[in-house]
Amino acid sequence: MTYEQEQKVAIDTVISAAKLCQQVRQDIPQAMEKTDKSPVTVADLGSQAIICKALHEAFPNDPIVAEEDAKILRQEDQISTQEKVTHYVNQIIPHSSSEQVLDWIDYGNGQVSSRFWTLDPIDGTKGFLRQDQYAIALALIEDGEVKLGILGCPALTSASGETGLLFVAVRGEGGYKIPLAGGSKTPLQVVSNDDLSRFRFVESVEASHGDQERQNAIAQAVGITTPSVRVDSQAKYGIVASGEAALYLRLPSPKYPNYQENIWDHAAGAIIVEEAGGKVTDMYGKPLDFASHSKMKDNKGVVVSNGTIHDAVLKALN
Ligand code: AMP
Ligand code: MG
Repeated sequence: MTYEQEQKVAIDTVISAAKLCQQVRQDIPQAMEKTDKSPVTVADLGSQAIICKALHEAFPNDPIVAEEDAKILRQEDQISTQEKVTHYVNQIIPHSSSEQVLDWIDYGNGQVSSRFWTLDPIDGTKGFLRQDQYAIALALIEDGEVKLGILGCPALTSASGETGLLFVAVRGEGGYKIPLAGGSKTPLQVVSNDDLSRFRFVESVEASHGDQERQNAIAQAVGITTPSVRVDSQAKYGIVASGEAALYLRLPSPKYPNYQENIWDHAAGAIIVEEAGGKVTDMYGKPLDFASHSKMKDNKGVVVSNGTIHDAVLKALN
């Protein structure tokens, strides 16, 4: 088994962060607004603090490229938010000070390099706030390739009825899911085209994160006859990797045609689908570039499929 220590550290810390997120969600979180107008909560910041601390202690030389930073919490009028984040982190890591928590969050301000981690401490913050789906997404990128991906999906329910799932994949070794609360591993396997009840497609809940009209037209063009399943966050990748859908389409929104995707929004999900036998490219069939920058500057849109229908999807897009 490769990346054994990385897997252990990453899995343990994502499970801890998922506990923090669920705790915050029970207490009805409020959103703050970042400079780009997107929402952030104490759970995003607490989750990032916990995961970055664990990674930094275990792998001090690995940069971490994470979505959040502690700037918002260092503002003078944010002392009470700072205290809230520290309160939740303390339930997982007792006796942590606010100063430490801020420093741990800022371990996530690293740059891409030959080996680094990328983290979305809460992917789908809007879903988190709506009591819908969200994910904690962590990936290790080495020599230009995602080697390890972990997705914690605390609100996702498996076909067998467990809520709270953890997806894990290691390059070349396949992937599995396991209940976040512990239990047995289920290998990941994408769906085949003749499994009609599961031959469907997923897209974002947020209409502005894609082009739903075109996504639906493309799905129909490749023979998907049922309406889309709309899900927040990289839980969509988990659903494709579990064989619960054949396709996830994310085409550029007509409102934001120049939007560049963030690596932390796709790296963990991509390896999980690939190791389940699926395929992930941009809308032109180009591999997603996770290694050059924190944004996927040379990619447009994202196409995630069971593999078998991938070429037909790209052809329909042309
Ligand atoms: P989802 O839950 O799949 O809708 O994706 C949530 C992610 O969408 C967030 O983490 C944002 O980084 C990202 N996002 C924000 N604006 C856009 C946009 N215009 N197009 C695509 N993704 C976006
Ligand atoms: Mg995100």
